[in-house]
Amino acid sequence: MTNSPLLQAICMTEDAIRSRSTAHWIIAFSGGKDSTAALKIFLSAYKRAHTVVPNVTVIYCDTGVENPILDIYVKSLLVEIRNEFVELGFPIKVKILKAPVEDRFFVRLIGRGYPPPTNSFRWCTIGLRIRPVSKFVMSQDLNNTVVMLGLRKSESQQRDRSLALSSEPHWQKQREGVGDYDLFLPILNLTIPDVWDALFALPMPRSISPRQLEALYRDASGECPVIKAPQAPPCASGRFGCWTCTVVRKDKSARELIRSGYSELQPYLALRDWLSEIRNDPARRWPQRRSGAKGLGPLTIDTRREILARVDHLETQTGTSIIDSDERGLIASLWQFDDVPRLFYPNRRHDT
Ligand code: SF4
Repeated sequence: MTNSPLLQAICMTEDAIRSRSTAHWIIAFSGGKDSTAALKIFLSAYKRAHTVVPNVTVIYCDTGVENPILDIYVKSLLVEIRNEFVELGFPIKVKILKAPVEDRFFVRLIGRGYPPPTNSFRWCTIGLRIRPVSKFVMSQDLNNTVVMLGLRKSESQQRDRSLALSSEPHWQKQREGVGDYDLFLPILNLTIPDVWDALFALPMPRSISPRQLEALYRDASGECPVIKAPQAPPCASGRFGCWTCTVVRKDKSARELIRSGYSELQPYLALRDWLSEIRNDPARRWPQRRSGAKGLGPLTIDTRREILARVDHLETQTGTSIIDSDERGLIASLWQFDDVPRLFYPNRRHDT
């Protein structure tokens, strides 16, 4: 791999580790191919650098509605990776982040009546992925923090345009709120084949099986972003995203997994498809926005009840917990404030 893009990425990361060894390195990990390749590159570079970096954290953002097959894969992987770091004597922590209860998918959908997300009203990414990561990063010493992301150039034309203007594209400043911090993007120039080279050629962490990842993720094209512009396109067009995602027209990922034998995903896909169908039905929405402005508003209480009943049924079918007790409690209290359809339909019978 002499002079290969992969070797260049490792060397560049080695230099970055040496020059920022006292920083808190935060590695964003989704379990997808790009963030896995970035993690492998970091570990190879870390070994080559012979430098102790005392503060490294691998973060994973659990939306609570990840594709269940991939959720099981990533969570068991994180346990193994954590054990492996201990065995290797690497002072690397693994942290799972989660959105606060008020930002969770079903609290927004069923509690507040947000319509299932689309590209033009994609309310979920910020609350479920970007804000938990941003909150964690912002609680660190920003002047001495490097956040490493597995972003590649070709994922977004918008991103490519802004990177083209940068003299040092692998290092970016992320501005957020009152502060900014450094972003390090080691796989920016890697193509998809380069990424697979990294996955198969680099040995650490050995808990990650490239074959297993390949089987899950062979033709994926992206991961829902945890940092950077929430309007960036990938999201759910690849393997790693929410099973509830209605931003894409069809959930090809789930369909392919079902086709390759994961039939347990079928009821999840059926509910997701139904959510996508009802989204724009005026009979299921308030006739005006919450603000009073013209246009379809939140989902009606009846529809929210129906969604909850369908999720309950899915829980029974799959033997899993999809909406936890905190979420259920908040949904119930939000409904009390939101029983306004009586205002719109005073002559209709209401049972709420
Ligand atoms: S995968 Fe889809 S539903 Fe999940 S956060 Fe991204 S856009 Fe939203």
